[in-house]
Amino acid sequence: MSRSVVQCVDLTKRFGPHLAVDGVCLGAGKGELMTLLGPSGCGKTTTLRLIAGFESPDSGTIAIGDTTVAGPGVSVPPEKRRVGIVFQDYSLFPHLDVRANVAYAKKRTRRGERSTDELLEMVGLNGMADRMPYELSGGEQQRAALARSLAAQPDVVLLDEPFSNLDASLRARLRMDVREVLRAAGATAIFVTHDIEEALSISDRVAIMFEGRLVQTAEPEELYSRPASKRIARSLGDANFIRGDGRGERVATEIGTLQVAQPVNGPVEVMLRPEWLSVTEDSDGAARVVDREFYGHDQIVKVRLESGMELRVRAWSPLNLAQGQRVAVQARESAITFDGNGLDSGTDAR
Ligand code: ATP
Repeated sequence: MSRSVVQCVDLTKRFGPHLAVDGVCLGAGKGELMTLLGPSGCGKTTTLRLIAGFESPDSGTIAIGDTTVAGPGVSVPPEKRRVGIVFQDYSLFPHLDVRANVAYAKKRTRRGERSTDELLEMVGLNGMADRMPYELSGGEQQRAALARSLAAQPDVVLLDEPFSNLDASLRARLRMDVREVLRAAGATAIFVTHDIEEALSISDRVAIMFEGRLVQTAEPEELYSRPASKRIARSLGDANFIRGDGRGERVATEIGTLQVAQPVNGPVEVMLRPEWLSVTEDSDGAARVVDREFYGHDQIVKVRLESGMELRVRAWSPLNLAQGQRVAVQARESAITFDGNGLDSGTDAR
């Protein structure tokens, strides 16, 4: 990866006794879209506000480009940090039309190569430059806010849940458009969300945050298929956990001997995503169908093994399995293992 445009080192922020950000180290490279993903209250927004300069860290440093903007004895005000901001509630100036909102950012900073009209075209708002903010839909307002954030050619664009007020289909469309616009602008961006699909679909890298700490940072595919802990595995989507006995590159389990990604010996817990498993109708099969959730493009088949353990299996084909039917379960992918000592509650599939 290229040198970081944003570099946070050991950032800590307390609110009274509460440690909201706890030793965060984070680097976003040039042109990279980095996402902070985590449950509500884990410190994502506070991290972003520290980078923007709306909060001061209790300790640690933040550098943007070659400049240290926060650290011992240093506190560069937000307007001098060269950051663009698109927040959920960061509204446009209500008394200015779209063109004036975007032009304002250029004028204020006296930077920006692209014309206001070019920026509006980039975000798909050509023809709407003369509209007032109240004449725009929620999605259009966020497009205008993105154009405004890019107007001054910031070193980094910070986006905090920018789509959370929008309905699901608009949200899905807009996030891909925003990614395209950020790429076309060559912008480095840090994006905050608690939406797993959003984080995995648009990011170059995702940083998982729990209770103020960054616990794993990786590319989406890597994070989803090689989570560093069970908690991270669960936080990224459906996961089955079964007990196994590690024998090098294979692990013996109730659904047979599985190939594992890392050699392991002794008792382990094996993680399998529902789509890493398959079910086939088999009157001698070791599992029975308990339930089915049909989603149109695919379905989740819930099966119970002889031991009583339940697994969730994603089936793509139009399988029409009946409750109680016997099936065989097979793993299609290598499984991931976690330390088997101190196994929590046995059947862990959700
Ligand atoms: P969400 O996804 O719900 O927006 P988040 O991960 O962005 O959550 P933060 O907004 O960063 O979380 O908040 C982290 C913690 O710090 C929370 O417990 C929150 O209540 C607390 N907190 C944030 N800002 C303040 C503040 N100004 N004063 C006191 N506590 C605060």
